Amino acid sequence: LNADAAELNPRDREFENTIRPKEIDEFSGQPQLVENLRIFIKAAKIRGEALDHVLFHGPPGLGKTTLSRIVANELGVNIKETSGPVIEKPGDLAGLLTSLEQGDVLFIDEIHRLSTVVEEYLYAAMEDFRIDIMIDSGPNARSVQLSIHPFTLVGATTRSGLLTAPLLSRFGIKSRLEYYNADTLMKIIKRSAQILQTKIDDQAAAEIARRSRGTPRIANGLLRRVRDFAQVLNDGQIDLGITRHALNALNVDEDGLDDMDNRILATIIEKFKGGPVGITTIATAVGEEPGTLEEVYEPFLIQEGFIQRTPRGREATEKAYAHLGKSPQKGANS
Ligand code: ADP
Repeated sequence: LNADAAELNPRDREFENTIRPKEIDEFSGQPQLVENLRIFIKAAKIRGEALDHVLFHGPPGLGKTTLSRIVANELGVNIKETSGPVIEKPGDLAGLLTSLEQGDVLFIDEIHRLSTVVEEYLYAAMEDFRIDIMIDSGPNARSVQLSIHPFTLVGATTRSGLLTAPLLSRFGIKSRLEYYNADTLMKIIKRSAQILQTKIDDQAAAEIARRSRGTPRIANGLLRRVRDFAQVLNDGQIDLGITRHALNALNVDEDGLDDMDNRILATIIEKFKGGPVGITTIATAVGEEPGTLEEVYEPFLIQEGFIQRTPRGREATEKAYAHLGKSPQKGANS
């Protein structure tokens, strides 16, 4: 099971949409972020203005798209959704921007993948709510300025490190989403089960939560698969026994780590004697970009105590050795 929306097929997407919270009160976790958003939304409504531009950043599957839709819903405005790689030229963006009504939300997923020309075109739109458009062609070609309705750009990215300073500075509200703790994931799983009209007990929900890599998308995906096992083997009841059976049958890691997590740990331990080893070296060994490792994979491994960041590089912890069923070599970690 992957946390990345880009890898979802249409059926998975449809499933996600049926269980996606639509109102801010249905959204669990991220308490500070949600509290701040409530204030900003209320203030914008009191003033009758468009909400400041918002950037949601953080690993995949933590609720960036969900929150963007909730923001539009709470503001009582329309939302237009697109993504960085889809907007090929300024003209595509101009079409979207001119279709927005006062205060609408324009959601750009994967905003770090905007091309430079499109990004630069966005600046004036975000700042002054005006755009340049070319009229005529050949020797008569000239650009005219067009006003657009004040709107809110909501950008989402897993790779905020790739955003340029000028783009970053144009977001008044920047919020980082964090991994969810097991209690919050349990709540999310129980809510989803209710929507799916499936019975699940607390122990089972806790087991799925624990093995979901702190990620609601993964938790919901696992719930869906466990439900299949429960339906066929357990009269539809999701209890701890059927949950363990299902998760083991699906090869879900005991600690909720995914393939890349395990490869990173195995690399540090087997190829580099447990570290310290530089992030670029690990990245080359696992065939991933250093930035992706740093922003998408490593935060969870650090938070859960599998690796440590030291000035000389990354080190595997005892927990990482235990996870791989190995014991640390004496002196290897000094
Ligand atoms: P992202 O855009 O960050 O990749 P999404 O917003 O698409 O993630 O969320 C992925 C799935 O997880 C959605 O189906 C959504 O319903 C669920 N989800 C995410 N965050 C929450 C939350 N806080 N509470 C309940 N469900 C959530």
